[in-house]
Amino acid sequence: MKNIRNFCIIAHIDHGKSTLADRLLAATQTVTAREEKAQLLDNMDLERERGITIKSHAIQMEYVYQGEKYILNLIDTPGHVDFSYEVSRSIAACEGALLIVDAAQSIQAQTISNLYLALENDLEIIPVLNKVDLPSANPEEVSDDIIDLLGCKLEDIIHASGKTGFGVENILSAIIEKIPAPKGDKNEPLQALIFDSHYNPFRGIEVIFRVKNGEIRKGQKIKFMATGNEYFADEVGTLKLNQVPKDVISTGDVGYLISGIKEAKEVKVGDTITDAKLPTTNMITGFENVKPMVFAGIYPVDTEDFEDLRASMEKLQLNDASLVFAAESSAALGFGFRCGFLGMLHLEIIQERLEREFDMTVITTVPNVSYLAYTKKEPETPIVVNNPSDLPEPSKLDRVEEPYIKATIITKSDFVGNVMSLCIEKRGIITNQTYLTTERVELNFDMPLAEIVFDFYDRLKTVSKGYASFDYSPIGMRTSKLVKLDVLLNGQSVDALSALIHEDNAYNIGKKMCEKLRELIPRQQFDIPIQAAIGAKIIARETIKALRKDVTAKCYGGDISRKRKLLEKQKKGKKRMRQVGNVEIPQEAFMAVLKLN
Ligand code: GDP
Ligand code: MG
Repeated sequence: MKNIRNFCIIAHIDHGKSTLADRLLAATQTVTAREEKAQLLDNMDLERERGITIKSHAIQMEYVYQGEKYILNLIDTPGHVDFSYEVSRSIAACEGALLIVDAAQSIQAQTISNLYLALENDLEIIPVLNKVDLPSANPEEVSDDIIDLLGCKLEDIIHASGKTGFGVENILSAIIEKIPAPKGDKNEPLQALIFDSHYNPFRGIEVIFRVKNGEIRKGQKIKFMATGNEYFADEVGTLKLNQVPKDVISTGDVGYLISGIKEAKEVKVGDTITDAKLPTTNMITGFENVKPMVFAGIYPVDTEDFEDLRASMEKLQLNDASLVFAAESSAALGFGFRCGFLGMLHLEIIQERLEREFDMTVITTVPNVSYLAYTKKEPETPIVVNNPSDLPEPSKLDRVEEPYIKATIITKSDFVGNVMSLCIEKRGIITNQTYLTTERVELNFDMPLAEIVFDFYDRLKTVSKGYASFDYSPIGMRTSKLVKLDVLLNGQSVDALSALIHEDNAYNIGKKMCEKLRELIPRQQFDIPIQAAIGAKIIARETIKALRKDVTAKCYGGDISRKRKLLEKQKKGKKRMRQVGNVEIPQEAFMAVLKLN
């Protein structure tokens, strides 16, 4: 145990965590040159393409230092705010963290939020100034920022480059010298923290854990404390580039477990594994059920594909427990599912996986957060509103509460004005403003989650010319004046286009929404009126003009059979369009409310 070091790497996205992790694996010969591929830890195709680490992974390295052999368990963490709960559990499995700061970008919002998580868990922090090879690197100034943040000494900061490999040996010796060996007692009852799990189509769910006390043996009967489920540990082992089965994983070490679990939802990240016969009384603290933040309807483009879609979603859920869904129906779209996601990135990933891995073509409806509606009826029990159509009639409604977050934004002083205007437009209330240095400012706002999950990142990037970083954490529900904005096409209300909007913005958004839909919905043989309404009151109107006669004539000319072939070909190409009444609505139109600026 004294020669084990468990550590993670925390960084703002793109500061070079994955690249540096690859360097560590190469320097410890955990991977041979032949196996070496860029960003080894990101092994899902989608992760590679998007260049982001979606799920945490762990890998064990061996390193001889001053004649002694050490086991180094590296726990990689996802960099995107959608996955911050996973970051917090990975951090809880470690004694130390490399804090990577890009020498050109300096400290950003996620650097700070992840650092706070690490400090809460009493982790030893090793500051690394990365990308020192960049011509735009500014090591002196960024070092000052790091010293201000950590209160460390200049000589504690390791200069490194994931690109050239510079500094990697220094990082390895700092890991061994500075990060404490794990504590814990081998003779206590088993207590192991689950910090990750993934799905293997042949072997079921693989659980990744860190033993805090006791040990876990092959064949042992174990129990997951949060779910109460019991299993046999069919196989345990350590994670190198491949799994290495072992008879026992002992206190302080990190390993994997396979026990015939079929579904991801049986395994909860943050849960404690114990012995079924001799259980510990202490669950490892910090366990939370992950809650979806964003909800949207997912519907098949072809109504007859509903059952296929269900089967695909069930399969996806086997390996992504954070995806939740329930069947729903829409007057406009027929049968589909209301799905819960961790954030907009997660929604995009699910949609993309449905299309790539399951060959499904789907329509996604306007995303929304989860509201609580209180009716005038006593006693007060709130209705959870995950779909605008679940909102009670205005006459029965007492009030609506919406989720709020605390936003942390770090930007340059030049952009403070712009950032403030944006946040105020998004119904934010400033709670704090701190100058980190003369140039860099940290701003805190209380804001409705609904305003930030959609286009906030992009807007923030624009108004700050890229010099702003952002992170958030939930702070509970607050009463808001929300109304349901409906859209009527050709006089018919299209439920899938409804959205919950703050009263003060309703007229403006209704108007813009009609304008946007006029752009997005293709012209047809007849005029299509578009109306926005609150209850029975029409607040905006536009018209999509009919196609002109000559164009229509052209459409009808030519060889009919050739035309039919063309149509069939189009169908195969599976355009994301839905016929609602006699109007064809493209996918973009369902997202129009998010793209109004
Ligand atoms: P992550 O999001 O923190 O995992 O960052 P990545 O490791 O994916 O790196 C983000 C980008 O920075 C990639 O394009 C890398 O090639 C690049 N990068 C990473 N480390 C260095 C470095 O030390 N020097 C330079 N010049 N580029 C780097
Ligand atoms: Mg990465």
